[in-house]
Amino acid sequence: MQPIQMVDLKQQYAKIKAEVDAAIQEVINSTAFIHGKAVQDFAAALSKYLGVKHVIPCANGTDALQIALMALDLKPGDEVITPSFTFIATTEVIALLNLTPVFVEVDPKTYCIDPVAIEKAITPKTKAIIPVHLYGHAANMEAILEIANRHNIPVIEDNAQAIGGDIQLSDGTRKKTGTLGTIGTTSFFPSKNLGCFGDGGAIFTNDDKLAEALHMVANHGMKKRYYHERVGCNSRLDSIQAAILNVKLPLLDEYIAARRSAADFYDKAFAGNPRITVPYRAPYSSHVFHQYTLLLEGVNRDALHQFLADHGIPSMIYYPVPAHRQKMFEAFGGSRFELKTTDWLTERVLSLPMHTELSMEQLQFITGKVLEFINKQ
Ligand SMILES: *Cc1c(COP(=O)(O)O)cnc(C)c1O
Repeated sequence: MQPIQMVDLKQQYAKIKAEVDAAIQEVINSTAFIHGKAVQDFAAALSKYLGVKHVIPCANGTDALQIALMALDLKPGDEVITPSFTFIATTEVIALLNLTPVFVEVDPKTYCIDPVAIEKAITPKTKAIIPVHLYGHAANMEAILEIANRHNIPVIEDNAQAIGGDIQLSDGTRKKTGTLGTIGTTSFFPSKNLGCFGDGGAIFTNDDKLAEALHMVANHGMKKRYYHERVGCNSRLDSIQAAILNVKLPLLDEYIAARRSAADFYDKAFAGNPRITVPYRAPYSSHVFHQYTLLLEGVNRDALHQFLADHGIPSMIYYPVPAHRQKMFEAFGGSRFELKTTDWLTERVLSLPMHTELSMEQLQFITGKVLEFINKQ
């Protein structure tokens, strides 16, 4: 049996080595390292795949969120509603721009932002809402957009963990996650569902004016070279990363299918165990399993984590400390928020290995060891 990894990028690369190596070599031969053809090709291909009008590539998923907030022209002190149960980048950019994070609760089933909690947190100062499609499960965008539209508040979808997923609206239409809100953002960090070989990110929108603002912000605030109309930053996806993504994007649906079949195996193995809750799959969306995260009740989670590690099985806690309890947010009054579901989740979640290369043998071994530990507790 191959050693078990949380994410196995070596075996994934081995299957596409010839194409990837040739694509990288082509960029080197062209020396068009910045703004090269590969970047334009990738933006066009991703826009087609997602069914979104504009794709603005950038340097990473954190920049994508920052650029999205900057393009919306928010002012210091404006409030941004966000979950606390997420990777730090979602909330950090709010603080970085001197905006005020308003942390709200997540739904105990989907682990994504709770629309009811959003509505309660809206004030005249609310200027943006950032739902996160956590672990690859879509937030309830239809409910979120209904509220946001009623209050005329833009929505930025943090789609770093759910690229390729979709959402079915009640009129029957299906849309890709990241394309329903005012702006969507994603990351191509190597371990993400669509990962490059370094850092990368992208921003999506269907709004022409916003697309122009996003392009400008990502490019030193300029439209015409050396004429800088607004404060921006320098955030680019480089051509080598884009060339790699051009090889991997056509495989994304296959990659998602491989993740789903691993998730199906896990689900079956754990079905009916009273101490394990397997990931919920809402009828309105399709889970893309960026993570496969168990909710454990009456189990010593840290002891299970150690037991698995002792048997060569990595597992991870995403995330041990919610954003509102991080020291970073002390000055923003993080501790004034009372988020019981979020705290409860951070104490009980455990993510198992999830990637495109998990073999039946590995899955059997992992589930066997998890059940061995839990059943003897
Ligand atoms: C990975 C991630 C980001 C940040 O992406 P980077 O490319 O690492 O900057 C933002 N939000 C979420 C939810 C993420 O998982």
